Amino acid sequence: MKAIIYERAGGLDVIKQVDIERPILKDGETLIKSAFTSVNHVDLLGRMDLPWHKFPRIPGSDLSGVVEESKSGAFKPGDKVVAYPIKHCGLCYECRRGAPNSCDSRMLYGDHLDGFFSEYVVLQDRNIIKIPDALPLEWAGALPVAYGTVWHALIRRVKLMPSEKLLIIGGSGGAGVAALQIGKLVGAEVITTTSVQWKARRLEELGTKQVIDTANEESLSAIKGTMDVVLDNVGGKGLKTSITALKKGGRLATMGMTAGSTTEIDLRDIYSNNIRVEGIYGETQADITELTLAVARKAFKPLIDSVFPLERVAEAQSKMEERKHLGKIVLRF
Ligand SMILES: [Zn+2]
Repeated sequence: MKAIIYERAGGLDVIKQVDIERPILKDGETLIKSAFTSVNHVDLLGRMDLPWHKFPRIPGSDLSGVVEESKSGAFKPGDKVVAYPIKHCGLCYECRRGAPNSCDSRMLYGDHLDGFFSEYVVLQDRNIIKIPDALPLEWAGALPVAYGTVWHALIRRVKLMPSEKLLIIGGSGGAGVAALQIGKLVGAEVITTTSVQWKARRLEELGTKQVIDTANEESLSAIKGTMDVVLDNVGGKGLKTSITALKKGGRLATMGMTAGSTTEIDLRDIYSNNIRVEGIYGETQADITELTLAVARKAFKPLIDSVFPLERVAEAQSKMEERKHLGKIVLRF
């Protein structure tokens, strides 16, 4: 079967297509024929030389597909499914309480272990979620990582309410657009950020109340102390602005570090304003289930920037690296 690997750490040139053996199905497992996946930032970071990255490795953390064969009893051939991308023990307190994204032995498919950029994938029941027939597989393949994490952040963790003001830092990537759409679905007033003109226009069309240019200090200081919730995808020294944009009692969801993982913050901005900080890593099966039901019922439609055949994954990743996209870049098997 066809698969994509990262041969070693490095740039786009380490991405190779290979022909490997189809995985052998064992008791309790299910074989999925892959339909769609998508590109995420974790795939770009996945090419870095980090201690937990083994090479060669199959990348990819999103997957939609159809059950080919099952030895679990829970699924039957023809079922439409998505993968839950976090491998977890299923037995610890966090797993038992429905928070496997906080499992001590969690591993992300595609990052800590082989992922989903292959024609067939074998998974255990707890990593498979059946989706409604009405949900197109192309949309489903764009949902778990970006939309799932944002659903976890806004719905489950910060509990965004109708009429609240939500500021999205890093508004034009997959997760940023997901936050705009889920924020709108809740009924929040959404303000988003980008420094690119054509993206600002598109974000306005998608229903953002205001688009702020992050390079413009004046417009950033104008919203100081006014936001109920800030979702920060970017991190770095801009995190200070995210915190000071919150009004007293506001909530910050921090879920990315594309601008850097360390910064200096003034603790008074947090404690004296009763700010709640939520660190967000991944999502739960319940988040993905709720999300797929909402999209199947046409509550909103994931914004898909472009669809590439899997063979052109390097081109798709290059588009993301150069920030030429708005929304999700999907890959078709
Ligand atoms: Zn666990």
